[in-house]
Amino acid sequence: MSKIDVSSVVEAYCTKCKLVLDHTVVTMQGDKPRRVKCNTCDGEHNYRAEKPVPKSAAKKEPAAKKEKAPRKAPAKKARQTWEEIMQEAADKPHKKYSMSGSFAEGDWIEHATFGRGCVQAFMPPNKITVRFADSTRLLVCNHS
Ligand SMILES: [Zn+2]
Repeated sequence: MSKIDVSSVVEAYCTKCKLVLDHTVVTMQGDKPRRVKCNTCDGEHNYRAEKPVPKSAAKKEPAAKKEKAPRKAPAKKARQTWEEIMQEAADKPHKKYSMSGSFAEGDWIEHATFGRGCVQAFMPPNKITVRFADSTRLLVCNHS
């Protein structure tokens, strides 16, 4: 193994080329190169055998964020569109509307003129608001 000395060519890390390359030893410190000159870029710098490990990369662990608290139960499902409601209601029983009938909130009715609708509210003693596809109407009920 040839002894390294000034003007020997050694592999060293070039701070400019950012690579381990052949360098010519410029000065020695004991039996190790102290300053070297890059054979590739001619830059002179302190001898480094290997690529330094950047401190930041070595242990850079951003404090793990605390796991997010579980979300609160999501606010109720977005409002259904009327079409969706109608579809869902397609299978539900519905009452034929008549002025003498008795209806409650949530009932589905079939109106001779307006078609299918959903009772939105019962207003004692004898009115209901019903939502139909095109509008919400006030209808009479419990009429004797
Ligand atoms: Zn270089």
